[in-house]
Amino acid sequence: MVRPFPRVSTRSCCWPIGEPGTPEFRFCSAEAMPAKPYCTEHAAVAYVRVRDRREDAA
Ligand SMILES: [Zn+2]
Repeated sequence: MVRPFPRVSTRSCCWPIGEPGTPEFRFCSAEAMPAKPYCTEHAAVAYVRVRDRREDAA
């Protein structure tokens, strides 16, 4: 079977960069990790954010 768009193996990072609504706003577009919507760098940042949020709530 031919797959013209191998989305699963070459998904790009959807980490937002800049402020939404501004011309500078864009997505990271680095190669995303398997089973994650972000690249290695931004997946790490996302996990840190969740951890910080928990500490704030406690
Ligand atoms: Zn990224």
